[in-house]
Amino acid sequence: MGKGFFNVPVAVNEPVKTYAPGTPEREAVKKAYAEMYRSKIDVPLYINGKNVKTNNTRTMSPPHDHKHVVGTYHLAEKKHIETAIATALEARKTWSQLPWEQRAAIFLKAAELIAGPYRAKINAATMIAQSKTIHQAEIDSACELIDFLRFNLQFMSEIYKEQPKSTSDAWNRVEYRPLEGFTYAVTPFNFTAIAGNLPSCMALMGNVVIWKPSDSQVYSAKVIMDVFEEAGVPAGVINVVFGDAKMITDVVLSNPDFSGLHFTGSTEIFKMLWKQIGNNINIYKTYPRIVGETGGKDFIVAHKTANPKQVATAITRGAFEFQGQKCSAASRAYIPKSLWKDVKKYVIEDVKSFKMGSPEDMNNFITAVIHEGSFNKLAKYIDQAKKDKDAEIIVGGNYDKSKGYFIDPTVIVTTNPKYTTMCTELFGPVITIYVYEDKDYSKTLKLVDETSEYALTGAILATDRYAIEEATKALQNSAGNFYINDKPTGAVVGQQPFGGARASGTNDKAGSSQNLLRWVSPRLIKETFVTPSDYRYPFLG
Ligand code: NAD
Repeated sequence: MGKGFFNVPVAVNEPVKTYAPGTPEREAVKKAYAEMYRSKIDVPLYINGKNVKTNNTRTMSPPHDHKHVVGTYHLAEKKHIETAIATALEARKTWSQLPWEQRAAIFLKAAELIAGPYRAKINAATMIAQSKTIHQAEIDSACELIDFLRFNLQFMSEIYKEQPKSTSDAWNRVEYRPLEGFTYAVTPFNFTAIAGNLPSCMALMGNVVIWKPSDSQVYSAKVIMDVFEEAGVPAGVINVVFGDAKMITDVVLSNPDFSGLHFTGSTEIFKMLWKQIGNNINIYKTYPRIVGETGGKDFIVAHKTANPKQVATAITRGAFEFQGQKCSAASRAYIPKSLWKDVKKYVIEDVKSFKMGSPEDMNNFITAVIHEGSFNKLAKYIDQAKKDKDAEIIVGGNYDKSKGYFIDPTVIVTTNPKYTTMCTELFGPVITIYVYEDKDYSKTLKLVDETSEYALTGAILATDRYAIEEATKALQNSAGNFYINDKPTGAVVGQQPFGGARASGTNDKAGSSQNLLRWVSPRLIKETFVTPSDYRYPFLG
């Protein structure tokens, strides 16, 4: 920026539209869904601003109707990854030198395109690809992605403003250089917003990116790329490759110019990538930045002073929205005996009232889980719970994959607080509840802390302030996002920066400047005005 200290537009959260019957947004998304569902798209790789077709393709089908094909996508070979890296490094020469306001304008434009002309399309794509209801699609692919794009700019300007002190004879300046080399974004299926944010926030800070989306999110990834292209992201800055994740990763991580991994997905894959980076450490020109947000075993603890209806709502919303496939979804709950009768009644009533089916029918609250692998895994745990003496299914427990991968929202009650489904991330519409003696509140908090390897989200519901304070202290390291009298899901960019510690990730808080700070390498410039010309200090006499 040469000719002005520019202010960035003040970021505000995108209002969530209601999609209530009769609203224009409901009609627009229904129309987009119907058109996209009927037609077939062909999704290329995006390398150096070109659409690359390899003719080695895979089909795309909605999880709620897996025999229906909505398109194909092309799979990369080793040579495509190598080309993508080479072109990214070439693009870096100009992109990394572009004044920040030029980069920023591109991503602000992307936000406005999603808020306006692309809103129905990106929501419909997310409903089709990831089986989200319109509400879940709206809060993710429209609002959260818009928020990321707007707020990141504000975070970037906060970072750039952070400058050291100077004196009258020396001026100290810090420039926030992009990382030297190229970066790698690996994104999960469950949030279109995360898929858009991981590559774009690195690019905003001046980096060039190889982006590998999840195979189950290709349709909405394509809409993101359409938006980025229209917004003016130059050729080679964000390159998208699909296909064999291991092959792609092997090529990327064995390149000496690899300088940063921005990952969201399962703990197991993240640990594998970290190990691979460690094994390759001697080949890199710079120490790569590693940021990963991973799994969770998120909890709800109710105290005896909590309101049972509120506890039940936190459970049913927290555990079952988007079929429990949010990293923050409640999947274990601890309820005091004195509240259990009421909480149980309300939870069963709620779950029985859920309608399940295609997201196109807007009466449905629950749709399908993402793919057959996930369906089979969940069915296995449900079957096991039916056999185990220390587990009881109080509602749900059925599943059917004849048309789509439908799992009934399921509540397991266990007498064993360390029962498998109290500890393992299932990533589906299953919650396990342990009922504790009221007098054992303190012991139960300890149990919550010790039961899982994860520390992503958690919630305490209580009206007794001492009980809230006790939980806040006892669970200090059990969750990176801790909620008081709320469900543990639904973090909003700019309001609740998101991330967990322990096995849940590096906790670099997506939706905050802390995350963006990982994608720059500051250079300090000290300029001295009267340069010394005699080596002798006064003490030498
Ligand atoms: P996943 O780990 O299966 O896949 C994530 C990404 O890794 C995908 O792009 C996938 O293709 C890729 N991948 C798979 N194998 C790979 C390999 N060998 N090398 C390189 N890349 C590979 O996760 P998912 O099923 O897409 O998403 C669900 C998981 O993500 C859950 O564990 C959830 O908790 C987690 N998640 C965490 C957060 C968070 O902020 N903490 C947010 C969303 C999702």
